[in-house]
Amino acid sequence: MEIIDLHCDVLEKLSRMEDVQFRKDSRLHASLENLQKGNVKVQVFAIFIEPHIPQEQKFYEAIRQVEAFQNKVLSEPEMVHITDWKQLNELQEGEIGAILSLEGCDCIGDDLHKLKLLLDAGVKLVGLTWNYENAVAYGASESPDKGLKPFAQQVIQLLNERNVIIDVAHLNEQGFFDLLPLANNLIASHCNARALYDHPRNLSDEQIRQLVKHGGRIHVVFYPPFINHNNEVTTIKHLVKHIMHIASLVGIDHIGFGSDFDGIDLTVEKLTNASEYPNLIQALTETFTTEEIETMASKGFMQYISKVGMR
Ligand SMILES: [Zn+2]
Repeated sequence: MEIIDLHCDVLEKLSRMEDVQFRKDSRLHASLENLQKGNVKVQVFAIFIEPHIPQEQKFYEAIRQVEAFQNKVLSEPEMVHITDWKQLNELQEGEIGAILSLEGCDCIGDDLHKLKLLLDAGVKLVGLTWNYENAVAYGASESPDKGLKPFAQQVIQLLNERNVIIDVAHLNEQGFFDLLPLANNLIASHCNARALYDHPRNLSDEQIRQLVKHGGRIHVVFYPPFINHNNEVTTIKHLVKHIMHIASLVGIDHIGFGSDFDGIDLTVEKLTNASEYPNLIQALTETFTTEEIETMASKGFMQYISKVGMR
């Protein structure tokens, strides 16, 4: 079954590790070989800048990751850079669609030109924040009560104009609710249900309902600290419970996957890298029909994208 995965952090590793091979490298979760084995048809590659990197170096770091995307990912003949959503429908057998995303606007500071450059490089999903405060908003690790900053208006306007999806995954709560009526295209690319595990990176039932009501989607994340307690073994069954809970709130049409592979230090048992996607698909058959699983795996997102193209 073909998979669309809305979040991985392999670019950070590809830009940092010198001798790394995207095609096949045991240190990578989302290597090309693992994506192929896992039947991943479309992979979103996030530009993620470690928060400890000084502000004045952050944009340079983002450019280095764009270079890693171009030189190490797109250089593989199977990989197709998706710069227009229409291309998703044109992928041939054996090809994998590669999409750039920006995990937080920290690297642009308060300079919209920097964001424009990244959009010109092909970024199709943008998160306003990572976990901390920046010039746009407050992240999930900050107070939940602080809303979007004035600069967010310009950022959101540009993203709407360019038909870019705004990713709410790391945004704090008030920022999330401020954003809902302003954004044309919304997605939570890698979040789980707070009702099952109370973590600021997970979304409350109300957030999930409101996100879908505003046309958005939620893609579940395979990171154990967002699934259950750290000190327990985390199995695929635990992850499936989050999917079942979200399905009970909003139906399966608005659920997808956003593994966070290569951005995580802990993994779910039997879902330790992209090659093990079939184990998740197998586990889902105990609860869902093949048609429902296909909707979660790729078709729901494809339907969403067809609407994004219309706006
Ligand atoms: Zn993340």
